[in-house]
Amino acid sequence: MNGWETEFGTHDASTDASLPWPEEPPASAPLMHLHVLASGSKGNAAVVEGPGGSVLIDDGLSRRELMRRADELGVDMDRIGCVIVTHEHSDHVSGLSVFCNKYDGRLVATAGTAGGRKYLATLPFELVGAADEFEACGMRVRTFPTSHDVADPFGLRFDCASEAGVDSLGFCTDTGVLGKRAMGLLHGVRILALESNHDARMLATGPYPAVLKARVAGDHGHLSNDQAAEALRELVGPATETVVAMHLSQENNRPSIAVRTLASATGAEAANDTFTEARTPNGSLTICAAGQDRPMTIW
Ligand SMILES: [Zn+2]
Ligand SMILES: [Zn+2]
Repeated sequence: MNGWETEFGTHDASTDASLPWPEEPPASAPLMHLHVLASGSKGNAAVVEGPGGSVLIDDGLSRRELMRRADELGVDMDRIGCVIVTHEHSDHVSGLSVFCNKYDGRLVATAGTAGGRKYLATLPFELVGAADEFEACGMRVRTFPTSHDVADPFGLRFDCASEAGVDSLGFCTDTGVLGKRAMGLLHGVRILALESNHDARMLATGPYPAVLKARVAGDHGHLSNDQAAEALRELVGPATETVVAMHLSQENNRPSIAVRTLASATGAEAANDTFTEARTPNGSLTICAAGQDRPMTIW
């Protein structure tokens, strides 16, 4: 894979310190697109569409629902050349076995995830680390550990280059905190899909039993709106065009609350009456929220 040395937008000095800094930053070009088919505790699936094929991240939907939503967004599922599983919670893997009945492409996860459930252990996973790097469908993929109550979960950064320029996409859900490698790899990506699971006050006063409240809010649970907003102060860079709030709790959050909180950290203002979308005054950055049953495409 030539060309990657010219497109480092990452500030993760711990992994990339030896690489030369380009004299002029390469032009940013929308080479990848993100299709969020579902996001939330009732099922997750997203497609990263690149020039050489598409990657499916997690599959917590029935095959029928996955295909129906892909069709709704115009996503060609025949282009899926790699399925990457972030962790073994059922909202991320419940559709995988059936999907694999008619899929013989690559299937990627950590050993912890692949061994995390009996039915996953029977699938032909290609094992990678939670701080690893590999190529998928013409895209460079880097993993970073997330902090969640499972064996060996990760988040993802995708990079892609062509004569038109470079593109980058970060994807991180189901983590109680963001570690150093996560912050380094998510920094400055053009499209950032970041968990914004709950409003801390709604969670504290809401219907969950105390033990579940503690789990969700803990270091191995889920990022709150405030935590995501705080991270955005560091993660948004000059190339960042879109931030998508992910894995919103249906009980302990609202799209308008998540977007408003993320907007406050980035200088964005309401872009519609309901505050489910926000934009910076110069139009460079848009903030929106993915839904459990509202498939969406980020170009
Ligand atoms: Zn989840
Ligand atoms: Zn999870």
